[in-house]
Amino acid sequence: MEQGHALALKEAKMKATPKRLAILEMLDGESAYASPEELWKRLRDRFDRLGLPTVYRNLEELAASGVISKVIHPNRQLYYYFCRNREHHHHFVCLSCRKVEDISSCGIEALEREVSLRNGGKVLSHILQLNGLCGGCANAGGTP
Ligand SMILES: [Zn+2]
Ligand SMILES: [Zn+2]
Ligand SMILES: [Zn+2]
Repeated sequence: MEQGHALALKEAKMKATPKRLAILEMLDGESAYASPEELWKRLRDRFDRLGLPTVYRNLEELAASGVISKVIHPNRQLYYYFCRNREHHHHFVCLSCRKVEDISSCGIEALEREVSLRNGGKVLSHILQLNGLCGGCANAGGTP
């Protein structure tokens, strides 16, 4: 899957550095979001003297270019997720097991038009994330 990751970076006009590729490989290995600290602990085996700020910076750069997405958790911890779906969509994130599901339909375009018409401005983008419990966690009576 290395090639897919290199391609994702290329599409975002980012250099495919070993660190970026390793981060994508780790995030892609699971269908759940991960924290910078968790990734850092695993990356340290592979990169000598790797500092946590470097991991933070790389994750921020990847998120800013749209290669990975940021998950904003109610616990205020920042997490990141790599999604193979390159179409416009949003995520439903499980606060308990950290699973992420794609939401393909996004009803926001109508709202954007309404806002633009009302104030004569122009909406350029939107951020939407649904938080909750996935089916498995809800059935197990889980709590976030
Ligand atoms: Zn869950
Ligand atoms: Zn997705
Ligand atoms: Zn949308």
